[in-house]
Amino acid sequence: MNFSLSEEQKMVIESLRRFLDAEIEPQFRAHGDGFIPREKMQKWTQQLTEYGLIKAPHSEEWGGFGMDWLTHLMVFEEVAYTSLDIAIPGFINCVGAELICQLGSDEIKRKYLPDIISGDKFISMGISEPDVGSDVAAVNTRAVRDGDYWVINGEKTWITNGEYSDLLVCTCKTGEGQISHILIDREEHGYDVSGIKKIALNGQSTAQIFLADVRVPVSNTLGELGSGLRNTLKMFEFARCHMAMWGIGIARRAMDEAIGYAKDRSQHGKPIAGHQLIADKIATMATHIDAARLLTYRAIDKVQSGARADKECSMAKWYGTEMAVTATRDAVEIHGGNGVTREFIVERLAREAIINPIPDGTTEIQKLLIARCLTGVQAFR
Ligand SMILES: Cc1cc2nc3c(=O)[nH]c(=O)nc-3n(C[C@H](O)[C@H](O)[C@H](O)COP(=O)(O)OP(=O)(O)OC[C@H]3O[C@@H](n4cnc5c(N)ncnc54)[C@H](O)[C@@H]3O)c2cc1C
Repeated sequence: MNFSLSEEQKMVIESLRRFLDAEIEPQFRAHGDGFIPREKMQKWTQQLTEYGLIKAPHSEEWGGFGMDWLTHLMVFEEVAYTSLDIAIPGFINCVGAELICQLGSDEIKRKYLPDIISGDKFISMGISEPDVGSDVAAVNTRAVRDGDYWVINGEKTWITNGEYSDLLVCTCKTGEGQISHILIDREEHGYDVSGIKKIALNGQSTAQIFLADVRVPVSNTLGELGSGLRNTLKMFEFARCHMAMWGIGIARRAMDEAIGYAKDRSQHGKPIAGHQLIADKIATMATHIDAARLLTYRAIDKVQSGARADKECSMAKWYGTEMAVTATRDAVEIHGGNGVTREFIVERLAREAIINPIPDGTTEIQKLLIARCLTGVQAFR
């Protein structure tokens, strides 16, 4: 077991950090909290993709860097440290590219992978529906065969990248008890989109997607018919490691902000960092961040080995995202009244952290999955 970064990882992370601090952070701060239009988001995503945001784990054949997933997680943590809003669109492209890599035909790969990996096109992953959340097996969006086409009808919700999306991997019911993935190219087969306002992360897009008689060639089916649920669960494994990294990036930023503030702010005759209860909060944050990181690195290592890693990924996702909720709250408390004002970043971080435990399986669902792995007893049906 080696806990040191390789020379390549050090180089990637250090140059990315410099770029984020010098270029992205000032531009993001100047932009403020509002929605980031597609052109601006695409420019940032493409710039960050050159540092690995989408390219790192994908094969050079499709324009990627051919690095490992661990390095991608490190890249993702750094971008989340600066802005989760900017990290998320590239992350979804990364997930979409991986799914197409694993399941798409050669024609689909040639047609779409280079653009997704370069950030020229945005992709969305559409599983959730108004009546379908934690129970992903209950998907209602229906694809009915009409000759060489699927005709798709339904509604998806909470879809990340929705407003930006050129492509949608739509999880559909293709027969009784049969769930499949179908790739929709928005230019060829349009769909309507409506943005959703949230407590935070309104810079990037979360949206409803309405599919009315959308005609898609049968050749756009990803993987075998009926393999959609199995492939979704497989995809969740590495996506959950990324969700854990969101938490780690946010919590690390909150801790750094809290340390800076605690050293500057004096009460009772000395910097508050010198008060033992403040020191306790900082030490606790640092330890939980490292614990989350170790859980996440272990999980991605197992995913990369090719073994099923449900339990490890669920542990990482639960711990990493919930840890960030606590760490950001502590960072707000260390800032006192200033912590709840827009002048200090911790306020935004705390709002962002609350969102993270929900997507890709809530904390409750992660716990059920972990227990099922340990007991062998089905928790869902
Ligand atoms: C910001 C954001 C981005 C998202 N991006 C995407 C995306 O890109 N694509 C996509 O398809 N979806 C996306 N989602 C949807 C997300 O995956 C769902 O919100 C999540 O799976 C929970 O589903 P739900 O909101 O319907 O809650 P529900 O499933 O209705 O759950 C409500 C509550 O009940 C609990 N619960 C449910 N079942 C059980 C059970 N068996 N035992 C105990 N407790 C249970 C849950 O833990 C939760 O606390 C996103 C969500 C958010 C907030």
